[in-house]
Amino acid sequence: MRYSEINGTKISSLGFGMMRLPLDTQGEIDFQQGFEMVDFAIKNGINYFDTAYMYHHGKSEPFVKKALSERYDRTEFLLTSKLPTWLCHSKAEAEEKLKEQLERCGVDYFDFYLLHSVDEETWDNIEKNNMGEVMAEAKKKGLVKHIGASFHCGPVLLRKVLETYGDILEFIQLQINYLDWDFINAKELYQIAEEFNKPVIIMEPLRGGMLSKVPGANARKVLNKLIEAKNLSYTDLALGWVDSLPQVVITLSGMSNLEQMKENITFFSKPEGLSKEDVNIINEAAASLSNELFIPCTKCNYCQDCPKGIHIPEVFEQYNEAAAKDFHYIWGSLSQNYKKLTPSAKECIACGLCEKSCPQHLKIIDLLKEVENKFDYLETIGE
Ligand code: SF4
Ligand code: SF4
Repeated sequence: MRYSEINGTKISSLGFGMMRLPLDTQGEIDFQQGFEMVDFAIKNGINYFDTAYMYHHGKSEPFVKKALSERYDRTEFLLTSKLPTWLCHSKAEAEEKLKEQLERCGVDYFDFYLLHSVDEETWDNIEKNNMGEVMAEAKKKGLVKHIGASFHCGPVLLRKVLETYGDILEFIQLQINYLDWDFINAKELYQIAEEFNKPVIIMEPLRGGMLSKVPGANARKVLNKLIEAKNLSYTDLALGWVDSLPQVVITLSGMSNLEQMKENITFFSKPEGLSKEDVNIINEAAASLSNELFIPCTKCNYCQDCPKGIHIPEVFEQYNEAAAKDFHYIWGSLSQNYKKLTPSAKECIACGLCEKSCPQHLKIIDLLKEVENKFDYLETIGE
């Protein structure tokens, strides 16, 4: 296992993200399999375990207590959890929440504790209720050893948060992977982390599993050459790509079974990661995958004179965002979010006005139908 460090604490470069633990036939966490994974992780050098109040609808932290705290000496693992910033409406509530989380995990302290999901919606609440102060005080009391924050925001807010809390945040957690680098401009978030000299923990390196499958024939063709030459998998390439970023200290993988864990550990146990040439090939595949998956609408708005008032760029944007999640519900129902867009794309009367003004020459009428059909289907399967 390769190792790194955050302010003197030695951490495994691969972290066990406990948000996608193995499930039994009832959809509950499969403790037996989970224990096996935890044992295998520790035996093979993983020392970083990442949970959060909300993971598995509140059952991940209690799992940690059973799997780690009650079965291992506290010095044998580093435990990370996160303050659910959106559930706390006062400083006192945030302090209570931390206490509850420590009890749920069966520990006296967290090695790493993060403000969870800092974004444009949670930030006001975080500031209003002095959650930065809660974190700093918890550290002084020894309830947490290192403080950080996980972000789901744009560059403007990330910069603002680091300007506000930069002196107490020791590291930040970002969603970065080779597809999001340009697609959601994760590159700029990373550059801000560099500018503020904050170590980065990576979440969603596989884009919710999408980059283990690479759903694009052309992108696969580009990657297959590398896979054959280096005897690696799509998963290895995605993990290796983020691991190659100098500011990255840990890559979190939400492993759901022992096979995935073995594969991830094998990659992180090699003395070296990917070369610069490997990374360039992956970048080439990323550009290709982007073109294969997404509707190349530039949001120029030249199509805004639709007589039915359809917000065409927004329709395509929702589709692209859902495609980037591999059409899986992650934080909110994809189809329900889409249905909030009015007027519906079904209102299209195929007048062709938009297609005449589209500089990308998109076949908007057909694309709108495809998008509608896709979201109708997603609704039927509950995504
Ligand atoms: S073709 Fe459909 S989407 Fe395009 S302008 Fe006409 S009604 Fe609007
Ligand atoms: S004109 Fe074409 S590229 Fe521009 S916003 Fe409309 S659909 Fe997108």
